[in-house]
Amino acid sequence: MRVMPQLKPISVIQRPDEVILLGRALEATYLDDADGSVTALLQVLAEGSRTVAELPAAMHRRGFTVTEDEMAAAVAALDDVGVLLGAGADAGLDPATRRRHESNLRFYDLYAGLDRPSAQFQRAMAAADVLLLGAGGMGSGVLQSLVGLGAGRVRLVDFDVVEEKNLARQFAYDHDDLGRPKVDAARDWAARYSRDGTVVEAVHERVTDVDAIVRLGRGASLVVCAIDSPDDVHLRVNEACFALGIPFVTGGLLYSTLFYWSVEPGVSACRMCLELNRAEQGERMPELAGQSVVLPMGRVNRATGPVAQLLAGFVTMEAGRYLTRTDPPVAAGVYHTIELADGMRATRDPWPRNPRCPLC
Ligand SMILES: [Zn+2]
Repeated sequence: MRVMPQLKPISVIQRPDEVILLGRALEATYLDDADGSVTALLQVLAEGSRTVAELPAAMHRRGFTVTEDEMAAAVAALDDVGVLLGAGADAGLDPATRRRHESNLRFYDLYAGLDRPSAQFQRAMAAADVLLLGAGGMGSGVLQSLVGLGAGRVRLVDFDVVEEKNLARQFAYDHDDLGRPKVDAARDWAARYSRDGTVVEAVHERVTDVDAIVRLGRGASLVVCAIDSPDDVHLRVNEACFALGIPFVTGGLLYSTLFYWSVEPGVSACRMCLELNRAEQGERMPELAGQSVVLPMGRVNRATGPVAQLLAGFVTMEAGRYLTRTDPPVAAGVYHTIELADGMRATRDPWPRNPRCPLC
């Protein structure tokens, strides 16, 4: 294959005897460059117009004598540090897809390499089939982001109808939708927003048990759980995803704490592990064990538009990691929180597998 390696649009800083590559924040790659040949090669690669076999001639014009083997080794080393992609690798996509997904493709460039073109991530998203439980504050936002990303298919499950209070934060709905099932309104929104894009299947159904989730999720690549009832819904989704052999992502807002996490059955610790860990922790905190709760935390929905959008964004980004494998999931068995009432302080706490977990 005639790959033309091209330098990603990173910052390159030249200093006496060395070159610094600045891509990701707080991450720099230092390369020795006493004779200036590395700088010359980077300048040639930035043009993205030559195969490896053509690099020695280009370097010769800049006053350096190098072999093709040396160029191949240098290109492989630069690819290893993640600063190269294949020039024109989008060309395999049709022009309409390239225009529509320009910013998505440029996002995927961050994770692309010579043998991982950005178009590959876009195709993975187009092949995705997501079971999305809930079309409320988080679910409708996740749907909107999935449609924007060009997910192939979303099975959207919800039992509610659109109410006036939803208009504060559920931007897939408007006044004309009041009284309609959310799944129908959301499906229509998606069809208007992205013609020939994501196929949204509307399922007007209340999800209550594991069997229903397994039935709805058959053939799906991922579940996003955007419902918070019944109380043990996460455990039910967890069990269903073990049966289906697919991961799930979830999130929510508890009082003033936004949270999200995910489970990859057989790979990460699971929600049942967390449940068992918490039960054992309770046994180790005798002052809490067996105490009755006088006032349970009330279910108050205080998710404003920006809060719901933040949450949907974090959850959809995690879903995207599973669907495209740009980078490993960041929240698999890791409880992420963002504390809204304390300067947006963020925490991430991995929970261990529990040896007594019947699923893991
Ligand atoms: Zn487990």
